[in-house]
Amino acid sequence: MTFDLGDMMRQMLGSATGNGGNSETRKDVVYDAAIVGYGPAGGVMATLLAEKHGLKVCIIDPNLEKRWIPNYGVWLEEWEALDRDLQIGLGDCLERTWEVTDSFFGGSNGVPPGERCRIKRAYGRVSRDKMQANLKARLSSAGVAKIRGRVDPKTVEHSTEGTSLRLDDGERIDCRLLVDCSGHKSELVVRSGVDNPGVQIAYGAEVEVLDGHAPYDENAMLFMDYRTDYVAKTEISADELRELDEVPTFLYAMPLGKSPNGRRKIFFEETSLVARPPISFDLCKERLDRRLKHHGITVAKVLDEEFCYIPMGGAMPKLNQRVVAFGGAAALVHAATGYMQVRMLAAAGGVARAIASELTKEGHPGASEAAARRAYQALWPAKARLQRDFHVFGGEFLMAQHAPILRGFFDGFFRLPLPLWAGFLSGYPNLPHNELHQDWQGRLGFGFQFFLKLPPLVQLQLMKAGVLNGWRYGLIRSVSPLASGEEAKDLRFADEAESIRAAAIAADSSSGAPPALGVASDMDPSDRGSLQEGGTTDEKELVVM
Ligand SMILES: Cc1cc2nc3c(=O)[nH]c(=O)nc-3n(C[C@H](O)[C@H](O)[C@H](O)COP(=O)(O)OP(=O)(O)OC[C@H]3O[C@@H](n4cnc5c(N)ncnc54)[C@H](O)[C@@H]3O)c2cc1C
Repeated sequence: MTFDLGDMMRQMLGSATGNGGNSETRKDVVYDAAIVGYGPAGGVMATLLAEKHGLKVCIIDPNLEKRWIPNYGVWLEEWEALDRDLQIGLGDCLERTWEVTDSFFGGSNGVPPGERCRIKRAYGRVSRDKMQANLKARLSSAGVAKIRGRVDPKTVEHSTEGTSLRLDDGERIDCRLLVDCSGHKSELVVRSGVDNPGVQIAYGAEVEVLDGHAPYDENAMLFMDYRTDYVAKTEISADELRELDEVPTFLYAMPLGKSPNGRRKIFFEETSLVARPPISFDLCKERLDRRLKHHGITVAKVLDEEFCYIPMGGAMPKLNQRVVAFGGAAALVHAATGYMQVRMLAAAGGVARAIASELTKEGHPGASEAAARRAYQALWPAKARLQRDFHVFGGEFLMAQHAPILRGFFDGFFRLPLPLWAGFLSGYPNLPHNELHQDWQGRLGFGFQFFLKLPPLVQLQLMKAGVLNGWRYGLIRSVSPLASGEEAKDLRFADEAESIRAAAIAADSSSGAPPALGVASDMDPSDRGSLQEGGTTDEKELVVM
């Protein structure tokens, strides 16, 4: 492990503004929050805790300077709402925007192949470099200590006061709360149930093209081209032809204007929305090449490539553990779309406030555990978990369908009034139009209206899935009065936090013995929740310890 240079300088010079850049040596420091992982989720959470709440924060990652992988795509309305809400400079991180998005769902269900579905809703591309630079500057001025190293999950230990961990070189870090932002493959978080996610796979290439981008409009973002007519039936074998329908992929593309050499720049991405097992990057790449060739688009130069692997709808983190999961680690990815950034940002303000509300209380002995409990209450309240159940059912449905059914499904989806489909795509509290989906009546109403827009064959598939999987994946609970029972459980979060506090205070003021808190509960291997597949809402989550 090595020290971050900026951090060392601040420690040598002292810092008037920061809360991590003081002259203490690190072994004397107990951080309020140690953030594991410096991806977008870790960067945002560290910024909010330090900059907005004045906590002493460190962020730990073996690759502190690594360039983030994806350039995220977002609906502009959502990004602007988050910019206003969070006030951390998100508005300056967009690289490009488009006023409209186009999709193509023709070739089946009576829709002509050339029919374009134009949506008047602006889309944007977030610049990973601008976002990373923005957060880096904020972390520095808020005095967040950057620590280079990998947290060894086996060394994490909880006590009443907080958590200790060791890095791969053996150095010990002490904190009051561990926030795990180490991504989808987190080894620090205990999950509930069997983790068997679907996976979104995409091969993306930012390229310069020699000629135009027919049939696509250079002023529109291409959201989905689900057509399969780019392959002539005579070109491929019967097996390959069948695979084209049975293993569906679509094209997503962002026209990026002109390069300095005058050539047009475009980001193309061939995407498998969700599949179990995941499809191969090679298949996506091969299809992208064929599709471009079919449209007469000649790539002059590949500027960048992206290999997208996003687990969707896997197991949820247990909500009564001491490690607070956030971002990919917290299953915040939308289980039917693969989007995560806006959902992570929509959750961030509330989670940071919840953590700070406990950690800033004076003389509060149970603060660490109560902070974790409050954080999960903010991150996955019942209303969000029930929405997620709806998405998990949707993701499972989508991964079982062939291309013609998916074309009919999305054609119907985008024929709904914009607020209705937009609310489904956001699918998390605090995002625009989510209010139409956040109670069971809203979701049921959405389901009926959507159903009426669908071609008969798609309706049939959906009914079949509802009957066979509606209970297993939580659909029934999500769209029926059973949801109210689930929501009532949320009250226990606050009760638990209060009882943790009361028990800690009582223990503190009595014999001096440590309070009887369930500090090691999340590490108990026998307590792994139910064996429910798909990571849906788990009743065991909220049992008071
Ligand atoms: C190619 C690609 C494209 C995507 N595009 C979009 C998109 O357009 N829109 C969208 O909303 N979402 C998108 N996603 C999904 C999601 O937003 C990203 O996966 C996102 O990067 C997850 O952010 P995160 O901060 O949770 O985790 P990550 O970005 O994965 O960061 C985790 C960090 O934790 C560190 N780490 C891991 N283990 C440890 C440890 N033990 N100790 C210390 N550090 C550790 C890693 O080094 C890493 O830096 C995309 C994902 C991929 C892969």
